Amino acid sequence: MAEMISLEEARDLVLSRVEALDVETVGLLEAVGRVAAADLKSDIDVSPFAHSAMDGFAVHAAELEAASPKQPVELDVIAEVAAGETYDGPIAAGQCVRIMTGAPLPDAADAVVKYEIVDVVSGDGKPGSRVAFTAATKLRSNIREAGEEAKAGETVVSRGEVLGSAGAGFLAGCGIVEVPVHRRPRVGIISIGSELVDPTDLPTPGKIRNSNSYALAACAQAAGAIPEILPIVADDEDALAAVVAQAVKDYDFVVTSGGASNGDFDFIKPVVERLGELLITTVNMRPGKAQTFGVVEGTPVFGLPGNPAAAYCGFEMIIRPALRKMQGYSSFVRPSVMAKLAADTKKSDKRRLFLRSTLRKEADGTYVVEPAKNQSSGLFGVIQRSNCMAVLPEGEGGRTKGDLVECVLLDVAEETVI
Ligand code: AMP
Ligand code: MG
Repeated sequence: MAEMISLEEARDLVLSRVEALDVETVGLLEAVGRVAAADLKSDIDVSPFAHSAMDGFAVHAAELEAASPKQPVELDVIAEVAAGETYDGPIAAGQCVRIMTGAPLPDAADAVVKYEIVDVVSGDGKPGSRVAFTAATKLRSNIREAGEEAKAGETVVSRGEVLGSAGAGFLAGCGIVEVPVHRRPRVGIISIGSELVDPTDLPTPGKIRNSNSYALAACAQAAGAIPEILPIVADDEDALAAVVAQAVKDYDFVVTSGGASNGDFDFIKPVVERLGELLITTVNMRPGKAQTFGVVEGTPVFGLPGNPAAAYCGFEMIIRPALRKMQGYSSFVRPSVMAKLAADTKKSDKRRLFLRSTLRKEADGTYVVEPAKNQSSGLFGVIQRSNCMAVLPEGEGGRTKGDLVECVLLDVAEETVI
C-alpha cells in the first residue's frame, strides 16, 4: 500500500479503478449535459430539401446575368410558395416565383433574390405582378441546400460527446428524441463521528452538526451522480464495518468523511483494509492529507477527512473525476487561469497548498487573485464565498504580491477551454 502520493497519482489510481457504467436511454432534454454512449445518426437529410434563406423571388440566375440599374431585367411573378408548401410547376423564361423563408426552392429555379432589392413594376409583388432586377445574382444564392446540416445515415453526435443545448436541437432535427447515456452513479454518503448530529437537531455540549454530508452530496450531484445521505455512524470500528459492507452492495461508489487520520478513533482505514483492498492513505495536498481509497467487493470506497475544507478538496480533486469517468466523460481536470496575487502569501509547505481564493478580472483583462484571510480547513463558509483555489506547488516557498499563481476554477466544467 502506497505512502504519501501526489494528487495526480491519487487521481490516476482512482480513475484506473472505475469504468463507465451501463447504458440507459433517456429523453433528449434529460440527456443535455451528459455523454452520448453511442454514435447517433440522422434518419434523413437535414434540411430535407433545398429552401430559401430569404423572403424574395426564385429565379433562373442566367436570366439576370445582364441586369444593371440602367438595364433592369423584368420578370412576371407567376406563383407564390410559402414555408410548408411546394411549387412543382415550370418557370418559363421571363418568369419568377415569389418565395418565403423556409419554403422549398422550386426545382425549376436555381437562385433566390431577396425581396428588398427587387423593384415592383406593377401590382403588389404577389402573383400577377411584374418585378425588376437591377443586378445579376450568383447561382444558388440565398439557398440553404438539402443535407447542409446532416446527410441521412450520417453520424451527427459521436460517442463520447457531451450534449449541449444546441445539440438537443440538432438531434431533434435528425429525428433523435432518445439518447443512450451512461447511467448516473449512485453514491452512498456516510459521515463518521460520535460528535455529529443531524442538521435538524440542536447540538448538545460536545456535539456539532453534520455539515459534510450535505456538501458532499451537493458535490456528487454537481458531478452528475445521484447521492444518498446515509445515517451518521459513530466512531466504532464494527459499526462502521457493517455500514460500509452494506453500502458497497447498495451503491456504485461509497464516500465517507471523518475518522480518516491515525487517531484512536479513526477507523476508515482499518475497515477498508479489513473488508477489501486499501490503495491510498495519504495524498500530498493541504487541506486534506488523510485521503483513504480502496475497493471493497468491486465497489470503490473513498474515505475523506472530516475537516470540511479537506473533505471538499478531496472530493473535488479526486472523487469528482471518478464519478465523471463512470458517466463516460473524458475531461477530468477543472480549467485554471494564471493570476497575479493580490497579497503576499507567507505559506510555505512541503505539501501542495490549495488556497481558497477570490479571482477577479481587471479592466485590462488580467486576472488578480485574493486568497481568503482565514485558510482554516474547518470552514465551509470561506469556500462558499470563494470562486477558485489558488495553487502553491509542493515544496516551494511563499509568494509575494504580483507573483503569478495558478487558480483552479471551481464552477467551470472540465470541457471548457479558457
Ligand atoms: P476527523 O477527520 O474525524 O478527525 O475530523 C476532523 C474534524 O472535522 C473534527 O473537528 C470533526 O469534528 C470535524 N468533522 C468530522 N466530520 C464532520 C462532519 N460530517 N461535518 C462537520 N464536521 C465534521
Ligand atoms: Mg472524527
